[in-house]
Amino acid sequence: MQLLDGKALSIEIKAEIAKEVDLIKAAGKNIPHLAAVLVGENPASESYVRNKVKSCEQVGFESTLIRKDESISEEELLDIVKDLNENEDVDGFIVQLPLPRHIDPNKIILAIDPNKDVDGFHPYNFGKMAQGLDGYLPATPNGIMLMLKRYNVETSGKHVVVLGRSNIVGTPISILLSRKASPGNATVTLTHSRTKNIEEILKSADIIIAAIGISNFVKADMIKDGAVIIDVGINRVEAPERKSGYRLVGDVDFDDVSSKCSFITPVPGGVGPMTVTSLLLNTLRASK
Ligand code: NAD
Repeated sequence: MQLLDGKALSIEIKAEIAKEVDLIKAAGKNIPHLAAVLVGENPASESYVRNKVKSCEQVGFESTLIRKDESISEEELLDIVKDLNENEDVDGFIVQLPLPRHIDPNKIILAIDPNKDVDGFHPYNFGKMAQGLDGYLPATPNGIMLMLKRYNVETSGKHVVVLGRSNIVGTPISILLSRKASPGNATVTLTHSRTKNIEEILKSADIIIAAIGISNFVKADMIKDGAVIIDVGINRVEAPERKSGYRLVGDVDFDDVSSKCSFITPVPGGVGPMTVTSLLLNTLRASK
């Protein structure tokens, strides 16, 4: 089994980005600037946004964090989006999901200028992706594609089974891997909560992408020998022995499957860091 080390790979790619930023600075051009809007105090969102801001600092980007109370109205949040769309100093921005229940995330995403949509969530960019046109790719699926490419994991002609059909992971990664490209050219089965015989389908997978948010769902007896495992899940489980009181586990039972698979991403340190890195790549692109 080989580990798909997203942490190490993201350090490598961030060093490449930092070099580009040095060249941009030396040429007296605009330094890439990412803004992030964080609503409320969801601990997971806080930690994701903290990582994103820290990563901007590491590569020499400018970053702005806009924090708003949980009680912010949809109107007020739309005004912030409008300001960021119009702010020429900001190259790209994200609104961290999930949002409080009284705010419709689709309304907010639709209000983002597609040219600044570095999360790649706007239907304009999603549509471009679906048609194989150049645009901002959603960060997590693109992070997975980067990882498959850098580790030379063959996808052409392979059977990929995706668990989960969310708009931010499952659906876009199934589109990207079935495109006529490299990585790509795979035969993709997209499964979800209503899928029947999921274990049978998983057993026929050369590559499994798990994005359902259920701790340790995929076990060794559900996969075939030599399968490639991409674990997107980030789930908190109680760990009273730890200071934080929890630890993070994926949707795959790592200890159970690791001796049976060919490649596997750890949690943490797999897809998570690659998500942040592809957000940086999108921001660099936006600044150009
Ligand atoms: P989601 O939570 O929006 O939706 C879950 C999906 O799983 C749904 O499509 C549902 O149909 C499917 N599902 C639920 N139970 C299932 C079952 N038993 N069998 C098959 N499918 C089932 O999905 P999401 O936002 O993509 O998040 C999934 C996981 O990935 C979460 O743990 C989340 O924290 C994590 N995540 C990680 C990153 C990262 O950067 N690593 C990014 C985004 C999400």
